[in-house]
Amino acid sequence: MKAVTIGPEFGKENLRLVDVSKPNAGYDDVIVRITKAGLNPIDYNLVHGKIVYSLTPIPHIPGSEAIGIVESSSRRFKRGDRVVIYNRSFDGTCNMCRSHNEHLCVNGGIWGVVTNGAYTEYVSVPERNLFRIPDSIEDDLAVSLPIGALTAYRSLIRSNAKAGEKILIYGASGNTGIFAAQFANLMGLEVYGVSRKSWLREYGCRETYRMGEIPKDFKADIVLNSLGTNFWTDAYSHVENKGRLVTFGVLTGREAPLDIARLYTSEISVIGSTGGTTKDLENMMKIVSQNSFRAPVSARFRLDEMKQAMTEFENERDGRIIIDVS
Ligand SMILES: [Zn+2]
Repeated sequence: MKAVTIGPEFGKENLRLVDVSKPNAGYDDVIVRITKAGLNPIDYNLVHGKIVYSLTPIPHIPGSEAIGIVESSSRRFKRGDRVVIYNRSFDGTCNMCRSHNEHLCVNGGIWGVVTNGAYTEYVSVPERNLFRIPDSIEDDLAVSLPIGALTAYRSLIRSNAKAGEKILIYGASGNTGIFAAQFANLMGLEVYGVSRKSWLREYGCRETYRMGEIPKDFKADIVLNSLGTNFWTDAYSHVENKGRLVTFGVLTGREAPLDIARLYTSEISVIGSTGGTTKDLENMMKIVSQNSFRAPVSARFRLDEMKQAMTEFENERDGRIIIDVS
């Protein structure tokens, strides 16, 4: 079968399409035929050797977000079931796992980073990482469930978002931002986006501001900012008294200054959020299946077009990139 690999040399010019043997199902594993995969910052950074997690194995098959079809029946699944891969490896036995925080497993990591990923035709996945996709969620939307939608959903839970509150979303036109806007809107929040894209109004944003053009006195109860260093201070300045600044990414760098005086005098909370639990995934899929969520797709590529896909990722886009595997 075909697979895309990277390493030990990194950079998109070193991506290779190779023949590898089809995986065997280990104990408790299920063979899944990958149908579609996402291309997210984590995959792009992995290919370019810039990742905050340790990478194994090398050479590596990237691809952390995917859906597929169960190839052989198992205890919980029948051949032909359409499934999403929960993209955290977890042992199910550590303190974190036993308190239902699988995404923080002390022996775990991101599937597709601490394991080979989905830019290949078949994968062998622990059965506990697979979840049936409700029929009402079509493939192009389903492929965003494990990263884009789950990250957005959990960040709102972590922020203790309540109906009537104001939320300001940096990077609102990114895949996570689009889902955050839709979840927040559904939860009854007043949604504002930071982006050049005016079409975000179709996804629940009441108003969109260009970067640097947010009114100085604009304050939100919740500010989502996954852009890292460059936009940290700006995002922090727009947090209301008792407000929450939530981050789940470091797109422009991982260090930032913090005005500690303002933190306590305004009782601001800075909250980290990452991925989500398996329970979050199940709850979130139920919500998505019962409402009209959308995720715009800007371009599609096949496995033999991964270099072009990476180049497209660097461009200004109106929607996400999907890798059509089979
Ligand atoms: Zn664990």
